Amino acid sequence: MLQERTAVITGASRGIGKAIALNMAQNGANIAIVYANNVEAAETVRQQAETLGVMAKTYPCNVADYRESECVCEQIIKDFGPVSILVNNAGIVRDNLVLRMREADFDAVIDVNLKGAFNFIKHLSRSLMKSPAGRIINITSVSGLMGSPGQINYASAKAGLIGLTKSVARELAPKNVTCNAIAPGFIDTDMTSSLPRLAGGYVEFAVPLRRVGSVDEVAHVATFLASKMSSYITGEVIRVDGGLGM
Ligand code: NAP
Repeated sequence: MLQERTAVITGASRGIGKAIALNMAQNGANIAIVYANNVEAAETVRQQAETLGVMAKTYPCNVADYRESECVCEQIIKDFGPVSILVNNAGIVRDNLVLRMREADFDAVIDVNLKGAFNFIKHLSRSLMKSPAGRIINITSVSGLMGSPGQINYASAKAGLIGLTKSVARELAPKNVTCNAIAPGFIDTDMTSSLPRLAGGYVEFAVPLRRVGSVDEVAHVATFLASKMSSYITGEVIRVDGGLGM
């Protein structure tokens, strides 16, 4: 489905990003694995992708840093040639109630989750426009649609990402680049493993499908959006949340 295409996935060393990278590799895409610090995890993803018969390389990069992102995007294009799929998945949480939230925690979450996506779109757009079917997929969250107590930084970043998605979709549509967002609910990853909210029957109460989701359930949607099957979809936000955000 994605043969002879190159996908850049940020935050691909773990969790949802890793699942997306491997799902796209399974479908034939070469993959650039962008991560923050976790060399070992990123190398494992690279090896797993290579055993699927595609080209894979790892790139340490703080996506929040404009210049670092620029250098890494240039290197990716040198290594792979033109990029046709970008998945902005890298994300962090620094939860606290508004009265207790530190300025640094507000800024860090906006910088990684929102500015990080801007940085990669900015530096890869020219390359994406050369593709006959450029695809940008931003991983937002139901928190950005519904709001979430203790997460004003995260919900603001994720809501901002939806505005960014729709604006980029409008700007790049004439160049045949689509831009869509996926809004996961509670997905089983390192990010959610420590959430006290998920204990004590909360999931069964709040999620109509009565369970957390798996990373593969998000990855399938990302691969669909990256494929030619989604050619008439742009500016859309697809919830993958078991009905949480209805
Ligand atoms: P995760 O397991 O915590 O993994 C986060 C990934 O992002 C790791 O690969 C990490 O790299 C990378 N990363 C973190 N900061 C970065 C930075 N500054 N620059 C580059 N890479 C960075 O997270 P996840 O649960 O898979 O979440 C992935 C995305 O889905 C996030 O955008 C998150 O907001 C969104 N989401 C998740 C859920 C959920 O329930 N899990 C729900 C809704 C939305 P290292 O391994 O090097 O640290």
